Amino acid sequence: MKRRNFIKRASLTGVGIAVGNTLASCAENTSEEAKASQIIKKTSLPLVISTWEVKNATAKAWEVLQSGGSALDAVEQGCNVEESNVINQTVGKGGLPDRDGNVTLDACIMDKYGNCGSVVYLQNITHAVSVARKVMEDTPHVMLAGKGAEQFAISKGFQPEELLTEASKEAWEKWKVKAKYKPIINIENHDTIGMLAIDKGGDISGACTTSGLAYKLAGRVGDSPIIGSGLFVDNEIGAAVATGLGEEVVKTVGSFLIVELMRQGKSPQEACEEAIGRIVSKPDSNYKNFQVGYIAVNKQGETGSYSIHKGFSMTKYQDAKNENLQSEHYT
Ligand code: ASP
Repeated sequence: MKRRNFIKRASLTGVGIAVGNTLASCAENTSEEAKASQIIKKTSLPLVISTWEVKNATAKAWEVLQSGGSALDAVEQGCNVEESNVINQTVGKGGLPDRDGNVTLDACIMDKYGNCGSVVYLQNITHAVSVARKVMEDTPHVMLAGKGAEQFAISKGFQPEELLTEASKEAWEKWKVKAKYKPIINIENHDTIGMLAIDKGGDISGACTTSGLAYKLAGRVGDSPIIGSGLFVDNEIGAAVATGLGEEVVKTVGSFLIVELMRQGKSPQEACEEAIGRIVSKPDSNYKNFQVGYIAVNKQGETGSYSIHKGFSMTKYQDAKNENLQSEHYT
């Protein structure tokens, strides 16, 4: 049996288990499967990876995982750190506004069962990813938008607050002068926090949260709250999350594509590279003018990251090491 079929079968029958801190494979006792289990790379668990350099957020997720918490709690609490970090102008409170000066947030979360929740165009609530989790857990729906999402959040105890900080307001005012108030979709300021974790039990979850493209047209929604585009998790196979120009990610359903490529046997690195390839190889692609980056992890704990241009990085916390790794890139 090929390695990937074995892995798939092992997880389908519930025989892929975590032993101590190491993901190991334990299958029916056939010699072929015994051999396959030796081939599977043993990976130290837990682990968490994030887009960009977000050491504090990743450390928070790691703390949750180390204390035996679930991957779902880890990615939520990790993302929460950046959502309340006002220095980070791409996520949550302090995020850069749309061209009209409104901060609008997009976020989603996905658990080991394939459940998901998402919020789009959420205003006045810092922890968009936690609202997305509430949508997943407390409603029969997947996605809530705008005022409805905000009212739902308030009904769940989230406190409304002003998300536009003085610093972000100033940046927006400067941009208005420079940009002559023209709506543009370009490469300005994008830095979605995407986070993928595997807990000690070997289960995977993921989340992402963003204030979207700075100075976007009012009402614009990107890839980050769209399940399959900005994020996808399949606990049997792996997970992927995107950052960069959301329109390009949506057009290629990037995160779902990466997970499906891993299902077909590609490594996380190869899968991320192929997903970027789908964008840059379009005959009319103007990829020189925008950035997209992906990170991915498979069920075995192998990770990958790839972007169109230089400058993208992945933060990884594993084996008590919190490191920021520059991604390989296309150009
Ligand atoms: N992907 C996000 C969006 O298009 C932007 C980002 O990565 O910062 O909304």
